[in-house]
Amino acid sequence: MINITFPDGNVRQYEAGVTGLDIAKSISHGLAKKVLSAKVNGEVWDATRPITEDATVQLLTWDDKDGKATFWHSSAHLMAEALEAIYPGVKFGTGPSTDGGFYYDVDPGEHTISSDDFPKIEQKMLELARQKNEYIRKPISIDEAISFYQEKGDEYKLELLEKRKEEGAEITLYEQGDFTDLCRGPHVPDTGYIKAIKITKVAGAYWQGDENRQQMTRVYGITFPKQKELTEYEKMIEEAKQRDHRKLGSELELFMFSDRVGQGLPMWLPKGNQLRDRLMNFLRVEQEKRGYQLVTTPHIGKKDLYVTSGHWEKYGEDSFHPIKTPKEGEEFLLKPMNCPHHCEIFGHRPHSYRDLPLRIAEFGTVYRYEQSGELHGLSRVRGFTQDDAHIFCTQDQLKDEFLNVLDLTKTVLSKMGFEDFTAQISLRDPNKPEKYIGSDENWNNAERAIIEATAEAGMKTTTELGEAAFYGPKLDFMVKDALGRSWQLGTIQVDYNLPDRFELEYIGSDNQAHRPVMIHRAPFGSMERFISILIEHTGGKFPLWLAPEQYTILPISDRFNDYAAEIEQELAKYDIRGTVDDRSEKVGRKIRDAEVKKVPFMLIVGEKEAETGAVSVRKQGDGDVGSMSVAEFAKYFQEHLD
Ligand SMILES: [Zn+2]
Ligand SMILES: [Zn+2]
Repeated sequence: MINITFPDGNVRQYEAGVTGLDIAKSISHGLAKKVLSAKVNGEVWDATRPITEDATVQLLTWDDKDGKATFWHSSAHLMAEALEAIYPGVKFGTGPSTDGGFYYDVDPGEHTISSDDFPKIEQKMLELARQKNEYIRKPISIDEAISFYQEKGDEYKLELLEKRKEEGAEITLYEQGDFTDLCRGPHVPDTGYIKAIKITKVAGAYWQGDENRQQMTRVYGITFPKQKELTEYEKMIEEAKQRDHRKLGSELELFMFSDRVGQGLPMWLPKGNQLRDRLMNFLRVEQEKRGYQLVTTPHIGKKDLYVTSGHWEKYGEDSFHPIKTPKEGEEFLLKPMNCPHHCEIFGHRPHSYRDLPLRIAEFGTVYRYEQSGELHGLSRVRGFTQDDAHIFCTQDQLKDEFLNVLDLTKTVLSKMGFEDFTAQISLRDPNKPEKYIGSDENWNNAERAIIEATAEAGMKTTTELGEAAFYGPKLDFMVKDALGRSWQLGTIQVDYNLPDRFELEYIGSDNQAHRPVMIHRAPFGSMERFISILIEHTGGKFPLWLAPEQYTILPISDRFNDYAAEIEQELAKYDIRGTVDDRSEKVGRKIRDAEVKKVPFMLIVGEKEAETGAVSVRKQGDGDVGSMSVAEFAKYFQEHLD
């Protein structure tokens, strides 16, 4: 008998050779139907693989990230089987799961695969799935594997095998139906688990990510254990398309890109800039309430600054290259980070412990050379403005500082209408203390501070061991949008490295010099990224206080343009901003255009309104809400402001 320990600490005894699936069956029939794989001593295994020694076991289902990964990776094998049936001689690279499905890089030889072929591939996959073919794990020797692929003539798999040979890794093949793949696993028990299939995209991809090598065809797909889930997914994708921030950004005239200016360098148009400014002002006020002091630093810094900070060594060659000046040997860099400048600000005069915590904030614009294939609207750009701040404090102040940042983040997110947000805590790998700088005592203290602060703030958290940076533990914010999608926002990061590199000090109550701890903190990441998420979350229907145009006045004919202009002036006195649509268009057309622009209120004016000094109000989403005087509208507006 062996002891199986469950995540809740319970221990049960089973015969040696028991599988994850057997264990699930011993608990309940319902669970057994849902189990996709099992985490055995921290490693994800096939649910059908025998466990021969004492182990900790976590059964994985569709609700677990690793369970989904098993499901989708198994689907990649199923797709490969279908591709081989449809395109004889196709060769296979690698086929991993992703955050939202899976892909397989294939070399289709003389065939081409296009979106026209998707229905055919889906059909074949469904046919093979219904055969409920088991995924069979076959440990074999490296030489057997090599001769298998030599016979099959797949040079990609042979190259992968060569690499494994150097590593001395164990080799396993997995077989399902007529298809065999070189794979470490794990997979679901059989293909019948896969009930709903969608091939989503084909794209080119270089073999091993190397642009000098063979161009492969990357076929993407997503699968589900139930048809209903695929239907919901398709609905979500359709809605996401409507809300795509690149589409809305252009329709609402918020921002633009120009190839002449350069890829990935957003330019904010007047309406977008107002929105951005309003957001920054709001953040500014909330930060001031919490003791931050604003600074402004230049967009460039001497190369030496980044040599001191270590950024040059880490990013220099792969980012924008140094700017030369007429002076021989003088070099500047576009700043990739604001931290080195802020370290210099801290260090420019002596500090006492009474000055701490010192919180220096800046809407700092930074530049990083992202690969052109990685650029995406506002969410991946080459120049962006961080809502950045650096907090210099003592060890004892860490927890309060985390609480302070959590409070700020929660306040701002709820004001924007985000209700669901979580944080990931990244800690040290306890087995590799040599990977990290800073004393054990400091690390323990910082990790405890993060854990306690998030618990006190009542935050939903997940904890990842080994995900901390070498210089300190961190907390990353994730937010769920209106479509249920998760987005990574910004971070709070403890840093024991930069204060050392810049030799920062303060004089403690003991009259001795001490090194402060530094916290990097950009809770929203960047204005660009945050606004891209806000656009998709709201579908462009921004909260009223943030809307670039809060109303638009629609005269039913040119005769009422003057009256409309009077109303506009009146409303300005109430601090309500908007425009007059005085084009010679039919009012129906003006209403439709205002709807596209997602203006919260439309004020329609004609004969009757002009005579009585009123406006006819249409509210976005509610339609006609009646006629009212300007003062009444101003009151109605105020009631909807929050
Ligand atoms: Zn596999
Ligand atoms: Zn920083």
